[in-house]
Amino acid sequence: MQIKLKFVGAAQNVTGSRHLLQANGVTILIDCGLYQERQFKERNWAPFPVPPKTIDAVLLTHAHLDHCGWLPKLVKDGFKGKIYCTQATAEITKIILLDAAKIQEEDAEHKRKRHEKQGRTGPFPDVPLYTTEDAEACLPLFETVTYRESVNLDDGMETTFYDAGHVLGSSIIRVKVRHDNQQRIILFSGDIGRPGRPIVCDPTVFDAADYVLIESTYGDRVHHKTLDVKKHIGQIVNSTIRAGGNVIVPSFALERSQEMLYYINKLRLEKTIPQFKIFLDSPMASKITEVFKEHPELFDKKTTEFIKNHNSPFKIPGLEMAGKAEQSKAINNIKEPVMVIAGSGMCTGGRVKYHLVNNITRPQCTIMFVGYQAIGTLGRQIVDGVKEVRILGQDYPVKANIVRIHGFSAHADKNELLNWLKELKTPPKKIFVVHGESESALHFSDFVRNQTGWDVSVPDYLDEITLD
Ligand SMILES: [Zn+2]
Repeated sequence: MQIKLKFVGAAQNVTGSRHLLQANGVTILIDCGLYQERQFKERNWAPFPVPPKTIDAVLLTHAHLDHCGWLPKLVKDGFKGKIYCTQATAEITKIILLDAAKIQEEDAEHKRKRHEKQGRTGPFPDVPLYTTEDAEACLPLFETVTYRESVNLDDGMETTFYDAGHVLGSSIIRVKVRHDNQQRIILFSGDIGRPGRPIVCDPTVFDAADYVLIESTYGDRVHHKTLDVKKHIGQIVNSTIRAGGNVIVPSFALERSQEMLYYINKLRLEKTIPQFKIFLDSPMASKITEVFKEHPELFDKKTTEFIKNHNSPFKIPGLEMAGKAEQSKAINNIKEPVMVIAGSGMCTGGRVKYHLVNNITRPQCTIMFVGYQAIGTLGRQIVDGVKEVRILGQDYPVKANIVRIHGFSAHADKNELLNWLKELKTPPKKIFVVHGESESALHFSDFVRNQTGWDVSVPDYLDEITLD
């Protein structure tokens, strides 16, 4: 048995998830993510470590950019195989890739103009990493799979996708390699969700694997003990509406926006919050919400029950999806209090910036953060409590109520990751900790070793390991 595993991304960093597996003459790539951390962005421009045309198939865990966002470049550079993923992942990935291509095109044009003005050249070429056309070229390659139904990739290799409970359609991928009457099981965790989250099911657990690649985004942390998320949202909404202010929610388009709608819908049905207009002011979030509506079979028991008793959790009286820019601008002319859910989640771009301009200086308004705010982002500055912020080239005093709602994380923390691993009945031959900052990955690796005595390591970028 000779299986080769090469770590071509998300090795001691979080983004750019890419793992290359070679066995029985077949080469597969698990995830094809975009690098988003500034210090690793040049890897998006570097040639892929093996020629893309030699890769037979891609297995895609889920639709987040750091897992799927490099697909258009892989295809542009010669990949011609199939991209296997669940139906929901395929539908959301299409929306996300087309949006990413548009941003790449706009960024390149912006940079080109700026560099021309400054008479200098930047570190990367002033052309998009990929275009809308490149993103569209990926779409025919998608081959959808059903959870728990095995797919033969070759005579000696099969794969099965299982619900990861992270975002809609997300998967943990199991690959079985057979050779000379022997078999090895390799598990690729993708991103692992948390038990008990709304809408999505709990992550699938496994009782056997020879090798495991496990994410470690929160490998060195334990999530805040969450109070009742719904109750907390209800309190904030009520006090803001009573004061005559607006609630602005900077939110990611996938999962977070839909969860917010789900909670608001429940609060409405319980009559704990009054009637007011709600705007989902993000064309991407609106499109993704449509995918959620199409896939009730993926919801957890509670959400299924909810649909049975009521209707779609995403249909709320008074909810408007703002599509066009004019509709978005018109929200500011509304005199009564409203709630606006808009991207981007960390306030680095998108329509939320305009809503911040119109609301952040008003003490009766609330800016409600429901997601992680990375260092260096506008969102982080605001949650860190700065007195004045620069938005769209102008300074504004921060007078609005700034609130963070904990309990929305879509990633398991270190104890939850350990519990997931401990479901394995026998020690795996080896565990590889990936998809985490160095510190987080190393901490988690020590933690698992101490708790279980199992063989755990943290691979480095471009490490190649032979699995026996
Ligand atoms: Zn993810």
